[in-house]
Amino acid sequence: MKDISRDDILKLHGMISRAERIVVTAHMRPDGDAAGSCTALLRYLLGTGKNVRVVLPDDCPDSLAFLTGEDYGRHFLSAEKAPGPAKEAIKDSDLIFCLDFNSFSGARCGDLADALALSSAEKVLIDHHLYPQREAFSLLFSETEISSTCELLFWVLTALASAEDRKPGLGTDILTPLLAGMTTDTNNFGNSVFPSTLRMASMALEAGVDRESILQHLYNEYGENRLRLLGKLLYSDMDISPDGVACMMIDKEMLRKFNIKEGDTEGFVNKPLEIGKVKMSCLLKEDDGYMRVSLRSKKGVSANRCAAEFFHGGGHELAAGGRIYIPDDAGSPAEAREYAVKCTQMFMTREK
Ligand code: 5GP
Ligand code: MN
Repeated sequence: MKDISRDDILKLHGMISRAERIVVTAHMRPDGDAAGSCTALLRYLLGTGKNVRVVLPDDCPDSLAFLTGEDYGRHFLSAEKAPGPAKEAIKDSDLIFCLDFNSFSGARCGDLADALALSSAEKVLIDHHLYPQREAFSLLFSETEISSTCELLFWVLTALASAEDRKPGLGTDILTPLLAGMTTDTNNFGNSVFPSTLRMASMALEAGVDRESILQHLYNEYGENRLRLLGKLLYSDMDISPDGVACMMIDKEMLRKFNIKEGDTEGFVNKPLEIGKVKMSCLLKEDDGYMRVSLRSKKGVSANRCAAEFFHGGGHELAAGGRIYIPDDAGSPAEAREYAVKCTQMFMTREK
């Protein structure tokens, strides 16, 4: 990663000092990186005595409750539960931190997209996705050669704490959600790991973060249903095209039958990449009016370009997502699957 500029840190310090009502927000359907970065920044700002709230398009999944802890009930607002108060909080704020997304689109910000885009508050971006909407932010910490927003926030807060002469620096209350979010975005150090990532992890462990406990919460506390569904998908649903694209689909009936909650299918899309001949994996998940598309690819195949070109989405080079709208792009979930297979085939043929 690039060095963080001292000028930017001083600018950030000034913005925080001047602010009276701060909002921290992240992308819809928060994952570990979004929830972890929001929790860590919330705790840092509360520590400076600021009035701060985390305002999200929708609720954090139960599987991440260990990460937000009691702060979830006290300082988080979601537009899913309380659309009015969530939009009001954004309207009333004078400083907004945007974490783990980089443009005010409906696909990323859900029902909060307009409130965020129209707000006159100063906006700070801290994010690791490609192509930020630069003009929308007063200050950007945007870095793609980094594991996660949590890691980027770690380096920003480390520099800020030092500039503010904060002692004793970042505590485990802040470092634990940061290490957890970095762990989920790297698939537990499986991808997007840079030298700076290992330095961050090492500093968190030295400060006393309990990594065993994080791993227990993240990977060993699911219900039986999740693994049963994964088994079924891999055994009888996954197909692999001659060009090496694996495709799996979870429709609403399966979600109901296996009692699958938000967050339960985390990591499924990575599994087919374990097969040598698979170059890209595509997971479709039925939602209201569209199929959610998750794409993961191996080096040399751009999941990001495929998502942007065919599925109204984007993300990172090797991990991206988007949507197939029903009925605009495809008439039904089954047709959406055919559409996904056709599009990814077309993409792979052109990539050769
Ligand atoms: P996931 O497959 O885990 O939902 O998402 C993988 C990556 O793609 C994440 O970095 C996420 O930010 C990005 N992504 C997922 N859905 C969308 C989308 O609809 N639009 C854009 N621009 N990015 C997405
Ligand atoms: Mn992320």
